[in-house]
Amino acid sequence: MLASGRARVLFATVSRRGGRWRISLNIEAADLHSEARHRRRDEADSGGWVGVDRGLHAPVVVATSDGTQTLRIDEAPKALRAAQPVTRRLRKAVSRKVKGSANRRAAVAKLSRHHERMRARRHYFLHQVSNLLVKTHDRLIIEDLNITGMLHNHHLAAAISDAAWGELALQITYKQAWHGGHVLTADRCFPSSKTCSNCGDVKATLTLADRVFTCDTCGHTIDRDLNAAINLATWGEENYLSQVLDPEARGQFINAHRRDGSGRRSRAGETSPEDVRTLTATAA
Ligand SMILES: [Zn+2]
Repeated sequence: MLASGRARVLFATVSRRGGRWRISLNIEAADLHSEARHRRRDEADSGGWVGVDRGLHAPVVVATSDGTQTLRIDEAPKALRAAQPVTRRLRKAVSRKVKGSANRRAAVAKLSRHHERMRARRHYFLHQVSNLLVKTHDRLIIEDLNITGMLHNHHLAAAISDAAWGELALQITYKQAWHGGHVLTADRCFPSSKTCSNCGDVKATLTLADRVFTCDTCGHTIDRDLNAAINLATWGEENYLSQVLDPEARGQFINAHRRDGSGRRSRAGETSPEDVRTLTATAA
C-alpha cells in the first residue's frame, strides 16, 4: 500500500527491548475496499452474532446461538506451549549467577531475549487468529477481561493467557472496525460457562477440570468451551438492541474508520481488495 501511494507513514517510534531495536510506524491508510468489508446490516437485525470463547482447553472456540461451531483453534503453536520450561530454566540460570557479575548480566540478557521472542511469536499467532475472526464473522461477542482477577493472578501461565486474551480482544476490535463489522463485550457477570446452552439453567458449580458441561436440569451434555461460545452468541442476540440504545454501553461499540484523525492531510487513495493481505504483516 505504501509503494502504490494508498497509505502513508505519519511518524515512526524507535524503541529498544529485549536487546533489540524496534521501529513502529504510524500509518494512515484508506478504508478497506468494499469487497473486503462486511455487508451492512439493518439496525433492527439482531441476528448473526457469534460468541468467541477463550476456551479453557482450546485457545479460541466460536459458535452461533443455534449451536453451530464456526471456528475452533485447538491449541497454541508448539513454540508457545514449550516456552515455560525454557523460561524456568533461564530464570534459574540467572539466580545461580553472582549478583553484579558479567555472567549474571549475560544470563539476564538471554532471559530477556527469550521473553521478547515468545512475545513476538504470541503476537504473530494472535494476529492470525484475529484476522481469521474478523474476515469470517461480522458480529462478534467477546468475554470481558477480568482485570481485577488478572492483577491477582500469580500463576504465570494464567497471567500470560490473560494478557494474550486482552491483546486478542484489542486486535479483534480495531480490525473489525476496518472491516465494518461489530464487536460487543458481554457483561462481566454473565455466567457464560455455567449456563446450559440448551435450557438456560445456571449450574452452581463448574470446576476448571470439567471439560464437558452436563446440565443437572435437562441432562444436556456438551463440550465446555463450545457451550460457553453458544451462550455468548445468545447473549449478543438478546442484548444487542439494548446495548445500542443504551448510551452508556454505546462506548463499547466500534465504528471507527481507518482515516480517523487524519486532520488536514490529503486523503490516502483507494484500496484494492488485495490490500487485505497486508494486515498479516504486522507481527514482525
Ligand atoms: Zn439444561
